Amino acid sequence: MTRVKLILCIACANVVRDRGKSVLVCPECHFRIGRARYERIRSYAETATRFGYAYRRHFESRPPKNVHPSISVDDALLFAGLAAVGGIIGNASYDVVKAFARRVFLNVAAKIKGDQRDYEVEEVVEYVQEYHTHGVSNLSLRVRTGIREEFLTEYEAQFYLRIKRRGARFTGATLRRGREEAQRAWIERPPPPPADFAGFASAVRRRRRARNARK
Ligand SMILES: [Zn+2]
Repeated sequence: MTRVKLILCIACANVVRDRGKSVLVCPECHFRIGRARYERIRSYAETATRFGYAYRRHFESRPPKNVHPSISVDDALLFAGLAAVGGIIGNASYDVVKAFARRVFLNVAAKIKGDQRDYEVEEVVEYVQEYHTHGVSNLSLRVRTGIREEFLTEYEAQFYLRIKRRGARFTGATLRRGREEAQRAWIERPPPPPADFAGFASAVRRRRRARNARK
């Protein structure tokens, strides 16, 4: 199966193929968003969805102790997670977030044949929103520890890779710094500024208002 990189319109939940443009314009509702802003949202949502949903599901299924899978999320799940985060930062009601996430699943499935998966919209939204708001503090010690370990290990690995790419010398201090930076990233997890989510689900909300007015 060819991997198609998709981009999500945060106003109407439409998905389009990523053609690498610096300003993304939705062909469906004409919403415009700069690449840097989109990537900030996407990257934050990806972390929240992986560690708040995918790894949580993994550790809640009580896997054997020595199993350390590298869990990635597909576009459908990532975009639904983005909707969950957008609901809080972009100030949208739970119903709007759910409607948005449902649209995401349909739109991604329509774009990528055979890539359809069954996620419970409610569960994705609930888990990702909880991670955004509370991190893992409300989870059981076993699940919490598992998720944290995966986060730190991955963050450190990426840190050391960057050092290696720069050709810098690898010392005991490098190891310590990698560990410190990973710890800080785990605690801080700074979300994108609210302005990044301006217009979130605006087209979905408009559609719902129009439908309600007809009733
Ligand atoms: Zn759109």
